[in-house]
Amino acid sequence: MTTTECLFCKIVAGEIPATKVHETETTLAFRDIGPKAAVHVLVIPKEHHVDIAALAVADPALAGDVLAAAAVVAEVEGLLDNGFRIIFNSGRYGGQEVFHVHAHVLGGEPLGPMIS
Ligand code: 5GP
Repeated sequence: MTTTECLFCKIVAGEIPATKVHETETTLAFRDIGPKAAVHVLVIPKEHHVDIAALAVADPALAGDVLAAAAVVAEVEGLLDNGFRIIFNSGRYGGQEVFHVHAHVLGGEPLGPMIS
């Protein structure tokens, strides 16, 4: 896939609307279109990388920016007191559907065990 075909690159470019909750020079956070919890925000690097493994190798500082942005999202969404979850689905077995790396920030209600 080229970046011009990538759904999340189109959100970064403003070609597809999204409800933004946080933005930095290198990252963008927006609400998931199909929330799986009371709070469900996606945090992406603005630059296209396929998954967290590829990003961590190509640009570890940018991977750190994504994590730092996810922590800010947790704070501004009021998740710090009761806790929250950050998930990177990676690859087919990991359930990844959009191949532009994204952290899911989930919270706002009890999430239960991750695997049951
Ligand atoms: P994945 O399964 O790749 O880890 O997660 C992709 C996420 O992107 C899903 O939770 C899905 O609901 C979300 N998503 C898919 N298309 C859109 C969209 O157009 N806008 C937003 N905001 N989220 C989307």
